Amino acid sequence: MAGETIFIVEDEPDILNLISYNLRKAGYRTRGVTTGEEALPSLFKERPDLVILDLMLPGIGGFEICREMKGNEKLKNVPVIMLTARTEDVDIVTGLEAGADDYITKPFSPKVVVARVRTVLRRAHHEKPRSENDRISIHGIEIDRGRHEVFCDGEAVELSATEFLILSFLASNPGWVFSRSQIITAVKGEDYPVTERSVDVQILGIRRKLGDYGKNIVTVRGVGYKMMVEST
Ligand code: CA
Repeated sequence: MAGETIFIVEDEPDILNLISYNLRKAGYRTRGVTTGEEALPSLFKERPDLVILDLMLPGIGGFEICREMKGNEKLKNVPVIMLTARTEDVDIVTGLEAGADDYITKPFSPKVVVARVRTVLRRAHHEKPRSENDRISIHGIEIDRGRHEVFCDGEAVELSATEFLILSFLASNPGWVFSRSQIITAVKGEDYPVTERSVDVQILGIRRKLGDYGKNIVTVRGVGYKMMVEST
């Protein structure tokens, strides 16, 4: 709901003010800093509900801040939306690997930012622990949906929130093939403006992080993706 605190890290004051103004108008509280050096101490102290993070900052950059956050007990579950002027997939993949939940490319309309913030927050609330026993175990991959943790034969794997949802979704329906748009619908709701290409990017990230275990997520040409059925 509105009233949540959004923390903005952006070195261009005009963009910072534009985002802040529009989020306040939408009912959110905002805090903003213009350097990466100021960001981390404030974040540790305040633990906002969501962070909008510019990737290209002088000094400590966005990737580094994101990684620090995701490695910190207090901050690791705070959703991060990256702002990037670059549209190359490699930057987006790197950002998602650093643990960002979503990204917006510049230039953007303030409306898009408000809509994304709303969606990411809603998703974060949906992910509140349901039950301690909400576990899926398949191919040596252990998914704990309550604790939001993934282990491959006992070894912890760090996934972003979106990667986690996609993996959980595929793993709860082994053998079923899902189209990219079905995957988007399942993990984000139908109103989410994400492209089918970004599903491929997410799958790429999941496979890479799962290492050998990633091969159990199979591409079905012309259709989409599935989790292999466990052979008995
Ligand atoms: Ca910048």
